[in-house]
Amino acid sequence: MDTINGPETIVNLPWMSLTTSRIIFIINEIHFHLQAMSLSNKILARLKRRGYKATPQRLALLRAITSSREHLTPLAIYNKARQEQPGIGLVTVYRTLNILAQLGLICEVKSAGENTRSYVASPLEHHGHLICSGCGRVADFTGCNLNDLERQLSHDTGFTIQDHRLEFFGYCQDCRKTSSGEFPPPNPLNEAKKFITSHPLK
Ligand SMILES: [Zn+2]
Ligand SMILES: [Zn+2]
Ligand SMILES: [Zn+2]
Repeated sequence: MDTINGPETIVNLPWMSLTTSRIIFIINEIHFHLQAMSLSNKILARLKRRGYKATPQRLALLRAITSSREHLTPLAIYNKARQEQPGIGLVTVYRTLNILAQLGLICEVKSAGENTRSYVASPLEHHGHLICSGCGRVADFTGCNLNDLERQLSHDTGFTIQDHRLEFFGYCQDCRKTSSGEFPPPNPLNEAKKFITSHPLK
């Protein structure tokens, strides 16, 4: 959010003049980056608890992921992490991303119809994904309510369910706007219960 309604208040400090919307924008940015730093430290701590070393390269890689609002390809993560750790190799990046995704410490997202994988830092709580087939944007949602279905499936098949993943593919509001008529009508899933603000669909 970088605009507010109504007349703008101008704050005049001896060294600069700022509008309130600009101040709110700056505070939001600082808040996001502090959150990103604390999230990478939390993920690193969990990695250590699983017996992996907390190397400077792994921290640089985590910072690259958590400091982005969008999901990133391994190559984009590599390029960002290299700014902090020039010695990091692409193989290390791929290997570490695999470990982190397998441990459920970051989200691995496969684009619809493509064989590309990308990664997002997400809240560590259980959540599902809405994936845009147009621009590739990913939004998280919580509150999937699949307990009844799991219980029924377990009962019918004798299968012990330990976890599940929930991903929906479709088109975000922006992509629907730019190609009107081409895509299916508005999908009620866009109103999914609660969007987490780390990488929302615009
Ligand atoms: Zn996620
Ligand atoms: Zn889109
Ligand atoms: Zn779920």
